[in-house]
Amino acid sequence: MNAASAPRGRSESPSSLPSARVAGEFDIIARYFKRPVRQVAQRVHLGIGDDCALIGLAPGLEMAVSTDMLVSGTHFFPDTDPERLGHKTLAVNLSDLAAMGAQPRCATLALAMPAANEAWIEAFARGFFRLAAEQDVDLIGGDTTRGPLTLCVTVFGELPQGTAIRRDGAGEGDDIWVSGCLGSAALGLAHLKGELALSAQEALDAVRSLEQPAPRVALGSALRGIATAMLDVSDGLVGDLAHIALASGLDAVLNRDAVPMVRMVARQVEAVRWGCALAGGDDYELCFTAPPDRHADVLAAGHAAQVQVTRIGRMEAARSATGAVLVVDSDGKPCAPTVLAYDHFRTAP
Ligand code: ADP
Ligand code: MG
Repeated sequence: MNAASAPRGRSESPSSLPSARVAGEFDIIARYFKRPVRQVAQRVHLGIGDDCALIGLAPGLEMAVSTDMLVSGTHFFPDTDPERLGHKTLAVNLSDLAAMGAQPRCATLALAMPAANEAWIEAFARGFFRLAAEQDVDLIGGDTTRGPLTLCVTVFGELPQGTAIRRDGAGEGDDIWVSGCLGSAALGLAHLKGELALSAQEALDAVRSLEQPAPRVALGSALRGIATAMLDVSDGLVGDLAHIALASGLDAVLNRDAVPMVRMVARQVEAVRWGCALAGGDDYELCFTAPPDRHADVLAAGHAAQVQVTRIGRMEAARSATGAVLVVDSDGKPCAPTVLAYDHFRTAP
């Protein structure tokens, strides 16, 4: 794309590493992003280099598409390790495919950077492509431009037609489940913002959860045909579960005491613990519903994907027109609604 209409702004370096030498847009694409396509002929008919990439789709399959953008200063600190950032940029997108039960196939990457810092780009690409190789994802196109550091990925996944696990399919009486443990990423963020003190090891672990989330791709597809509704927990469990409740026309009753948290979260004072586990963002675990008679199948899917799955509540008939999340303790007593989901335009940064 040309830059004729680009406003002239002040540049900032994306990291503290110095630029070795100035590379052009096409050098950057060729050197760091153009890789041999892994699924040629099968899925990706044409990769990087032309005006469009071409993706083939076998009969009976549906394509799942999702875009997520990470903006420096909004979604990550400007000095975040670029290799981890490369991982996270792809991971948050793969998490959306996982949340539909789709199998990731390929991705595009739109990259705006204030300067061509090759050491930074090289490390970013290393993190991106390591996860891409693990998940068998091809990078098939994108855009590279000068601007405030912004990373935008679109992912393409596939699944048999009609099998996607949407948010609106939960049934009355369905169990609510969550994968993994919650709260660690929010604890890492609080630590980086200087809001609480962790031991050196705890800080490393919590910041790693924040910066290198594991997308639950295998679990997501294992739950096709079992889960009735699903999403990934990116903005906090209570707020995200409310999306399922609203879309499905039901209430969610969430047993706060059943929510799994890592030990360092469980050890925090009450407000921090519940804040991180129930309202903390960036965990990228899957929250889903399934009928009680599929209990064993859910456990088997978790086992096959090697991810812990925990039953944390039940879907009930809606008490009002808009589905709500009622947080209760293990005795069924309502807990104070002290927690909210992260909202970019409502939550103070
Ligand atoms: P156009 O001007 O037609 O939009 P570009 O010059 O922007 O094409 O890009 C050239 C090729 O490189 C295209 O195939 C595009 O998809 C790919 N590309 C550009 N930037 C990236 C990137 N950051 N990652 C992957 N592919 C990229
Ligand atoms: Mg372009």
